Amino acid sequence: MEFKFLHPRDEIIEIINRIYMNGMTTTSGGNLSILDDDGSIWITPKGVDKGSLIPKDIVRVFSNGISDGIHEPSSEFPFHLAIYKARPDIKAIVHAHPPALVSFAITRKIPDTRIVPKAREICGKVGYAKYALPGSDKLGEVISDIFKQNHDSVLMENHGIVTVGNSLMHAFQRLETLDFCARLTLKANILGKVKVLSNEELDLSRKDIALDEFNPDNHTSKEKEIRKNIISLIHRSYSQNLVTSTEGTFSARVEDDIFLITPWGIDRKYLSEEDLVLIKGNKREAGKQPSKSVNLHKKIYNKNPYINAILIAHPPNILAFGVTDAKFDSRTIPESYIVLRDIPKLPYGLEYRTGELEYPEITDFISESTPIVLCENNCIIVTGNSLLQSYDRLEVAEFSAKSVIASKAIGEIVPIGKFEIDELEKAFDL
Ligand SMILES: [Zn+2]
Repeated sequence: MEFKFLHPRDEIIEIINRIYMNGMTTTSGGNLSILDDDGSIWITPKGVDKGSLIPKDIVRVFSNGISDGIHEPSSEFPFHLAIYKARPDIKAIVHAHPPALVSFAITRKIPDTRIVPKAREICGKVGYAKYALPGSDKLGEVISDIFKQNHDSVLMENHGIVTVGNSLMHAFQRLETLDFCARLTLKANILGKVKVLSNEELDLSRKDIALDEFNPDNHTSKEKEIRKNIISLIHRSYSQNLVTSTEGTFSARVEDDIFLITPWGIDRKYLSEEDLVLIKGNKREAGKQPSKSVNLHKKIYNKNPYINAILIAHPPNILAFGVTDAKFDSRTIPESYIVLRDIPKLPYGLEYRTGELEYPEITDFISESTPIVLCENNCIIVTGNSLLQSYDRLEVAEFSAKSVIASKAIGEIVPIGKFEIDELEKAFDL
């Protein structure tokens, strides 16, 4: 989907739907706006259900203050206007009350975006605005003051969150990523002390990869089928919160040293078959940029002929074990142990050090009996002999971690005993 060709009304509808469907706002809460080139502001209306907005509900407020539309502009219009006045580089604003970020707003804390590698880059500086009456000019003053100090996301005390950007998508990605950090932090704190990354560690993730291009002679029917299957699963994983719009890499082997991988820098929700990048040996399909983890995928395929699909994802429950010292034990229910086995936790950064001789390779830890590894403060890497097997493992890992974290509210976990594990191993030939 090319956002640059969308009318501001349609852009607002698309993004409010994503925010609402992702559980980041209620029917009455939150508002979005876009600053048009002529200085007018397109904004969501006051008092209309956020779950059923249509383009004609969006209100345009001209720079002389006169509005055009079938509704009144959002009651928070004053703070949107104040932000645009304070920062001419801002072209779009998102305000919402996502539950995890509200948890931070009511405990008066700011989520730390150094919990995973890309979040700080995406969210920018996160500021904090003191409470003021909703809809008041005072609230506009307080928030715009913080944006003036070059923050790109502002947590509103006892209220919610405002993110800004050079486009509505940009502001949305900041909201989504900050909300992800908040959800991850809340889960992780139940398990133990949360570790954040140092500047040196964050820099590791910025390494670029360079591959030569090739023009495929043809696209086989097998390749086309794999393209379709990857796209269907990546869309499913986006709606299940297993990946975000900017993070998450899926790949699948076509044959030998040929595989398909998700591209770098394209929104996971709108990915389509033609966006996937074909990799052959050390070359990438002409004109396309593969995910930065392409060399890691290549190494895993080269070393393990039985692996045909690799998923790198960032689901908050299993990742909560990756940002704390807590150890994830899959001996919870038979399905978890059978599907997951033991999941080793690898020190941060190995995923970026493929080919550096002084560090162990991630491939050293992956085998048929250890199909999944958890990379500290970053991601889970799931392998399998098919896309569906890998996807099932990813879902089971996230579901099991969710049960373990939730169980802390009611009591101690009693894992499946040694005798029963031996029995399972025998019965399922593990
Ligand atoms: Zn609000």
